[in-house]
Amino acid sequence: MSQAENSAATLFIDGEWVPAADGRTREIRCPADGELVATVAEGGRADTERAIAAARRAFDEGSWATSSPWERGDLLLRVSDILVRDKAEFARAESLDTGKRLVESEFDMDDIAACFRYFGKIAGTDAGHLVDTGSRDSISRVQYEPVGVCGMITPWNYPLLQVAWKVAPAIAAGDTFVLKPSELTPSTAILLMRALTEAGLPAGVGNLVLGTGAEVGSVLSEHPDIDLVSFTGGLHTGRKVSAAAAATVKKVALELGGKNPNVVFADADFETAVDYALTAVFLHSGQVCSAGTRLIVQDELHDALVDEIVRRAELIRLGGPFDADAETGPLISAAHLQKVDDYVAKSVAEGAVLRTGGRRPEGERYAGGHYYLPTVLDNVQQGSYAVVEESFGPVLTVERFTDEDDAVRIANDTHYGLAGGVFTGDPAKAQRVANRLRHGTVWINDFHPYLPQAEWGGYKQSGIGRELGRAGLGEYQEAKHVFQNLRPGPQNWFSGK
Ligand code: NAD
Repeated sequence: MSQAENSAATLFIDGEWVPAADGRTREIRCPADGELVATVAEGGRADTERAIAAARRAFDEGSWATSSPWERGDLLLRVSDILVRDKAEFARAESLDTGKRLVESEFDMDDIAACFRYFGKIAGTDAGHLVDTGSRDSISRVQYEPVGVCGMITPWNYPLLQVAWKVAPAIAAGDTFVLKPSELTPSTAILLMRALTEAGLPAGVGNLVLGTGAEVGSVLSEHPDIDLVSFTGGLHTGRKVSAAAAATVKKVALELGGKNPNVVFADADFETAVDYALTAVFLHSGQVCSAGTRLIVQDELHDALVDEIVRRAELIRLGGPFDADAETGPLISAAHLQKVDDYVAKSVAEGAVLRTGGRRPEGERYAGGHYYLPTVLDNVQQGSYAVVEESFGPVLTVERFTDEDDAVRIANDTHYGLAGGVFTGDPAKAQRVANRLRHGTVWINDFHPYLPQAEWGGYKQSGIGRELGRAGLGEYQEAKHVFQNLRPGPQNWFSGK
């Protein structure tokens, strides 16, 4: 059955577009206004098991795993070209599912095309190496081989980017896969499967099952025919995936949440620090795993910095994907909005001082969407709920420090370790602090940039394993990415007007 014949034939299993075995569907609605975006298949256990069987067959019996890495690389380059060609369609679909501004989805599509290009180019460039046995009568070599069948589970905040970070390296390596994107944002995963087919991916190598974590994700996590489960999402879900995978000792890759510190020293350039503090936390309304949600500011700068951040936060314009004047968008769902609001209420009850926000915006324009005002909570205490729990919303908490040691101690006082920023006018201090932060990515006088060729992944409970880069240094080392902006200045993502 073609997709055109049945709009809910949106599962892709063994090279065919099919509806869910039990015929269930799900409505996808835009978080900005509640409009119906699509009706897609809602898969379950039976669909997932069929997809796993197809991926297993394609790996064990097909020629994919032993295909030339150069051919797989070429396929990825073709996918990258299709993503560039169809950028407008992909970006629009991503914005309708997530509610994020179209311009942000367009940036994401550039990153996604770059990701496929990057893995297309490195496929086959490292075949392994010879090892000297010390004898002419023997040879010894290390060679890289695919892991096997991968179960991939991804979140809704950067739907296709998170998918790309898993699918592109898996194809480069010669793995087969079953992908389960977030049930809230399936549209671009559907478009990607079409692009992979157009680029020549053989039947069964890539499979797509839409549905919930409880019904589809749990099967991918526990099924004995899955060799690796690669999960990106929240810490609490990650723990469940890890526990489910333990029964069959499958390989597990986890990219989880963060409580990411943004350390601002008194000698930082003031305008730059204000500007990046806003972008760090309010980009995509805080629904970014690496969002700089914890502002950790040196005592003497505290009052001036926080006053200016509050002033600027109140000027941020909210709106839907296609509102020309919007600077950031809604939260993903009513349930998530409630979660963020509960987080703020609980933090305030614990003693945090609400400086701005803490509620939905007023006005007809926002009535149909899940909007929440940029929020600043001052005077939060180490170890408090506000500092320990991820809100995943537009909420900045403020802590204070005295000196360099104090800053490092506070910034590292979290069970997460995904990312962090340091703002200072002293380059040596910047490097010292970056070296001491127990976070996987550290930005100096900047926040958010990542590079496909650099490592991405969390220390501590922010993850297991690393995406992007070329990792592979073994389990006994962390790989930290330190990025330094050598010409810092305001970028005015939020105009301040
Ligand atoms: P989530 O954990 O609720 O869901 C993530 C995925 O897991 C979804 O596809 C969901 O359906 C699935 N899932 C839910 N329950 C499951 C179960 N029991 N078994 C298997 N799968 C299950 O996360 P979310 O709300 O979609 O995304 C937000 C979270 O993702 C935040 O915590 C954020 O920090 C994190 N995140 C991390 C990164 C990173 O690179 N470290 C990137 C993006 C998002």
